[in-house]
Formats: sequence, C-alpha cells, structure tokens
Amino acid sequence: MDFELPEELAEVQKLAHDFAEKEIAPSAAQDDREHRFRKDLVGKMGELGFYGCLIPEEFGGNGLGFLAHTLVSEEIARVHSAIRVYVNMQAGPAVTLFEFGNEEQKEKYLPGLLSGQSIGLFAITEPDAGSDVASMKTSAKRDGQHYLLNGTKIWITNATVADAGVIFAYTDRSQKHRGISAFYADLSQPGLSRRDLDKLGAHASPTGELTFDNYAIPAERLIGQEGDGFKICMRHLNHTRLGCAAGAIGLARAAREAAVNYANQREQFGEKIGQFQMNQDLIAQMIVQEEAARLLVYRAASLADRGRPYNLEVSIAKYAAAEAAAFCADTALKIFGAYGYSTEFPVERYYRDAKSYQIVEGSVNIQKLIIAQDALGYRKANR
Ligand SMILES: Cc1cc2nc3c(=O)[nH]c(=O)nc-3n(C[C@H](O)[C@H](O)[C@H](O)COP(=O)(O)OP(=O)(O)OC[C@H]3O[C@@H](n4cnc5c(N)ncnc54)[C@H](O)[C@@H]3O)c2cc1C
Repeated sequence: MDFELPEELAEVQKLAHDFAEKEIAPSAAQDDREHRFRKDLVGKMGELGFYGCLIPEEFGGNGLGFLAHTLVSEEIARVHSAIRVYVNMQAGPAVTLFEFGNEEQKEKYLPGLLSGQSIGLFAITEPDAGSDVASMKTSAKRDGQHYLLNGTKIWITNATVADAGVIFAYTDRSQKHRGISAFYADLSQPGLSRRDLDKLGAHASPTGELTFDNYAIPAERLIGQEGDGFKICMRHLNHTRLGCAAGAIGLARAAREAAVNYANQREQFGEKIGQFQMNQDLIAQMIVQEEAARLLVYRAASLADRGRPYNLEVSIAKYAAAEAAAFCADTALKIFGAYGYSTEFPVERYYRDAKSYQIVEGSVNIQKLIIAQDALGYRKANR
C-alpha cells in the first residue's frame, strides 16, 4: 500500500491549496459575517476545473477522479468550509447528469455546471421528509410535453441563487419509492417561489426553500426513466457524501492547525499553554481523529476511482470525518479559551460550520445505521 500521492494528484492538491489561500482566505471572515454568496469564486473554481474531476475529458471534465475531487474539497474547506459546498453543488448535479442523463442532456447542461456559469443545486429534502427520503410529497404530473411540479423543498443549498438543479418528485406514488423521478430543472420559469433560511453557520453558502406551484418542467428534462429517481438519489448522495466528508477533514485540519499555533504562542503561568499536558492530550486526540478520518475518506475515494462499490466505505468515512470535524472544532475552541469564543478568530466559525457535517448528506445516525445494518447482515450497503 502506497500512501504517497501520485505527482498529478499532488499538483491538483497544491493548486487548490494555493487558490484557497490566495482567493478565499483574505475575505473568509467577511464572507461569513456578511452571508455573502461568492458567485465570482464559483466561476473561478470552474475555470480551474475543480468541478470536473468526476467527468471524463470528452464531456468537458478533466477525469482526474474521486481522489482529486476529495483533495480539492479538503483544501477549500480548510480555508472556508462554506465555500467548499460550492464544489458539491456543481460537481454533484454534473456527475448525476453524466451517469444517468442522455447524450443531449449531457451536451446541453454539463458545460454550465462545470464552468460555474450555471449555479447548481439538488433538492431532495422537504418539510416532512428529511432522512426518510421516500416520504417526500412533491409530485410531478405529466401534462402533455411537460411535467407539472407541486410541492416544497426545504434546506436546499443554493435555493435562492441557483439557475438549475436536480429535483426529486413522485411521478407515481402507488409505486412507493420506485415512483420517484429525477428532473434537471431550469429554475427561471414562473410558478416557483424561493425563500432564504437563516442558520447557525456556513453563512457564505445560502440555504433556502423552493415552493413549486404547477411549475412546468419540459419532459425532456426527466433524467433516466420515470421511477429511476430513488436509485439516482442514492447514487448521487454517495458521491456528494464523499465531497462532504472531504470538507469535514479540511475543517478538522484547520481547527487542529489553529489550536497548535495558538498553543505555541499563548502563555499562562509563565509557560506556553502547549506545555500543559492536558492541552497536549487534546492536541493528540485531534490529530488522531483527523488523520484516521482522512485515511477513511481517501480509501473511499480510491475505491470509487477503481470502479468498486463504495457505499459502505463512504458512510464509514463520512461518519468519522463529521465527528472529527465537530471534535476538532470544539477542542480548538477549548484551547483558545475566550479567544476561541471571540469573533476575531476563525475558531468560532469552524465550530459553527462543523455542526453541518453531522446533518447533511445523511446524518451521523443514518451513516451509523448503514454501517451497523451491513455488519449485522440486515441490509448490505455495497449491493
Ligand atoms: C446547511 C444544510 C444544507 C443542506 N443542503 C441540502 C441540499 O442541498 N439538498 C437537500 O435535499 N437537503 C439539504 N439539507 C437537508 C439535509 O439533507 C437534512 O437536514 C438531513 O437529511 C436530515 O434530515 P432532517 O434535518 O429533516 O432530520 P430528520 O430526518 O428529521 O432527523 C432528525 C434526527 O433524527 C435522526 N434520525 C432520523 N431517522 C433516523 C433513524 N432511522 N434512525 C436513527 N436516527 C434517525 C437523525 O439522525 C437526526 O438526528 C441541508 C441541511 C443543512 C442543515
């Protein structure tokens, strides 16, 4: 087993690292404070090919693969976790269109997503349907050359800024989850209202509600066949879960780096606070959680790159990474003391942003459920 990154991937990692330091870091605190969606950064990351790792060159991507996508996500999140979300909002819908869309859809919609010219989203969650995806109520009824969409999606990243996105809705409720379909909808037509939702963290990444009222989607925007939606949704979540897990290790790393730097500077009782064994204990725990999570995330990415099933491994990785992010942010805040609680330092932002990783792309409990049910033989994750 080789833990060294191949040269090509090390270059991608450096590119993302340097970009994040130069373009994202200087205004990270302000972007967070002012809840600024950085459309300019969406475009710049598109120009650098950050959304195209999962898409082959002939379809406009760079085909560098899942590990490259993971490295980019980690480097961006280390500097500003909320901006990392932009990567998943472009790359997620793009890979879903690539895997399940027809040739015309790929040709028409992939360029906008990959360049960042078309802001993307994916809408699964509803007011009464969170972890239980199949309990969604939104319906899409065929009406001639269109489907008429009715229902409300909530907690949707980019809801207020997206141009288009993957929307899941029932076309045939009698088929239970096999009656869900997926659409790549243009979001500029009449019949849609959008509302922003305020939240604890990730302020530079808008989250909101979409309400569809007889919203007409042309039939050619159906992805795959009617009834493919649940399968598409699970596959989509597998991919976005990986980017999310990578974001969580980036955030854990940022918190650990900040804590180590601070412990080497701050003095109390005539000594650097890093000299106190209780703080050393915290730093050691942060490092172990972060590094263990990183290996799990890279393993999942590497399996995906080899075309192997990785549902189980990505759930293990996402669980470990979300917990590492929350632990490291919480621990960094302890090491910083009052300065951690202050908005002058980024640690309070890490703390707020870290919580989202325990909820999104399948909560921590949902990952544990997948892992344990696989082990017990109730429901194999890699089917
Ligand atoms: C910042 C942010 C961005 C988001 N972006 C998007 C997006 O872009 N698109 C989108 O579709 N959704 C998005 N979501 C929604 C997110 O996917 C859901 O919040 C998530 O799936 C959990 O659903 P819920 O919040 O309704 O919690 P619920 O499903 O109501 O769960 C509540 C609690 O019960 C636990 N629980 C639920 N079921 C079980 C079970 N069977 N066993 C054990 N415990 C269980 C959960 O782990 C959780 O702790 C976003 C959410 C946030 C906070």
